[in-house]
Amino acid sequence: MRGKRVWVAGHSGMVGSALMRRLKRERCDIQTVTREDLDLTRQSDTEAWMRKARPEAIFIAAARVGGIGANARYPAEFLAENALILLNIIKTASELGVEKLLCLGSSCIYPKHAEQPITEDALLTGSLEPTNEAYAIAKIAGIKLASAYAEQHGCRFISVMPTNLYGQNDNFDLDHSHVIPALIRKMHDARVSHRDSVVVWGTGTPKREFLHVDDLADACVFLMKGYESPKLINIGSGEEISIGELAFLIADVIDFRGRIVFDAFKPDGAPRKLLDSSRLHRLGWSHKIALRAGIEELYHRWRTSGRNSLVKQHHP
Ligand code: GDP
Repeated sequence: MRGKRVWVAGHSGMVGSALMRRLKRERCDIQTVTREDLDLTRQSDTEAWMRKARPEAIFIAAARVGGIGANARYPAEFLAENALILLNIIKTASELGVEKLLCLGSSCIYPKHAEQPITEDALLTGSLEPTNEAYAIAKIAGIKLASAYAEQHGCRFISVMPTNLYGQNDNFDLDHSHVIPALIRKMHDARVSHRDSVVVWGTGTPKREFLHVDDLADACVFLMKGYESPKLINIGSGEEISIGELAFLIADVIDFRGRIVFDAFKPDGAPRKLLDSSRLHRLGWSHKIALRAGIEELYHRWRTSGRNSLVKQHHP
C-alpha cells in the first residue's frame, strides 16, 4: 500500500477512525470525504467524487449502524442506506479499475441458527435473526456484489466479516448503542448517582464474541495486503462470553457494586454468535487486545475525553 491512494469510506466512525489510526503506519496517501461533502447513498455524486479522487485501494467502513434496538426500530433506513452505500461504491470501483477493495460485513449476516462456531460457508444457509435482518440483507447484497465482480471480472475485491466490535468512538447513546458501551454507561451513571441497580436487557444467557476495533483495523490492513480470494473471511477473537458474565466483568471494571437485574421482556437476539476465524488464523493473524484490557481502556477514554465529544454515528 506504500505510496498508494487509499480511500477510507466512512473514516469518522468507529471502524473508519480505527483504520485511519492504523493506516498512519503504512505511508500511504489516505483519502477521506466528509458526509457533508458527499452523501454515499447518492449514486451519481459518489461516482463523480470517485472519478475525481481516483483511489487505488478502498476500505468500505461506511454504514448506518446501531444495536439491537435501533435495528429493530428503523429497518427501512438500515436496509436502504446500507445497500445504497455498498452498491454505489463497489460498482463504481469496478468501473474505475480500483486495484483492491475491502468490504466490511458483519457477523449478523449469518443465519440465526448457524452451527457454532460459524464458518464462512454458513452464509445464506438459513433465515436471519429478525432483529437485524434489514442490516444483514444490505450487507449480504454488498458482499455478493464484491465477490461477483471478483469472480466475473477478476477484480481484487475482498469481504471481511468482523465479529461484535467495541472500542474507541463507540456509540454511548443508549437508544443506539451495542451492549458494551450501553453497560459501561448504565453502570457508571448508576454508580455516580448512587442508584443501587441497573437493568441489563434479556436473560443474560446469550453469548457473544467481542473484538477491539483496533484489532479489527490491524486485521483489515493485514488482509488488504495479503488476502486475494473472493471467499469471505471472518475476523474474530475466538473467545466468547455470556451477556451475564460480561455484565459482571463491566461492573468490576467500573466498580459498580449494586444489583444487576436481567429484563427478560427485552429481546435476547441471537442465542450465540461465535465466528470460526480459523481461515484468518491460518494466515498468521490473531488478536492482541484482551477483553478486560479493552473495556478498561474504553471506560477510561470515555470518562476522560468528555462524554459529549463522542461521535454520534451514522456512517462509522
Ligand atoms: P447484537 O449482537 O446484534 O444482539 O447486538 P447488541 O450488542 O445490541 O446486543 C447483544 C446482547 O446484549 C443482546 O442479547 C442484548 O439483549 C444484550 N444487552 C443487554 N443489555 C443491553 C443494553 O443495554 N443494550 C444493548 N444494545 N444490548 C444489551
